[in-house]
Amino acid sequence: MVNTAVAGLALPHGPLALPEVHEPGYAIWHLLESVCDPEIPVLSLRDIGVLRAVLPGESAWRIVITPTYNGCPAISQMQDDIQSCLHQAGYQAEVMTCLSPAWSSDWITEPGKQKLHAYGIAPPHALSTSSNEKRITWASASTQRTVHCPQCGSANTTETSHFGSTACKAMYTCLSCLEPFDYFKPY
Ligand SMILES: [Zn+2]
Repeated sequence: MVNTAVAGLALPHGPLALPEVHEPGYAIWHLLESVCDPEIPVLSLRDIGVLRAVLPGESAWRIVITPTYNGCPAISQMQDDIQSCLHQAGYQAEVMTCLSPAWSSDWITEPGKQKLHAYGIAPPHALSTSSNEKRITWASASTQRTVHCPQCGSANTTETSHFGSTACKAMYTCLSCLEPFDYFKPY
């Protein structure tokens, strides 16, 4: 079921909007809005930037996902969730995993960032467009920027652990309201 290479495909970079009603795969994209990131259940796979393409195939739709990082333990659950969502609606689907271009937190949609904030997770800061620079700076990026508390909005926060509940988040504590919270690390 898992293909690591999707040959000959130019996958889009950046956040993706829902297609217009006349575009191919419109119904599939809309159905998949109900499939959420297993670790952040308020974000659809499109919101978080994992869902990259919906392509017509010979006997089944091909759904292309790019996990948030290589080895992400949630991949198999996302594949199962996509399959069952589309099967229930009567569609045949094949889920393909594509690792290039690599996922970036810049691919999270603006509504997705607002949902993260409302969920109590400080959304990631935007990265530079240079992928080389991105790889070098991501480990320290969260300490260079002000991370605002999603509870009270205070900028008076401190990182308490670089690895929070999952590897893609850091733990912060707000020094104004004293609430701990997760920061989605940019990478
Ligand atoms: Zn606070």
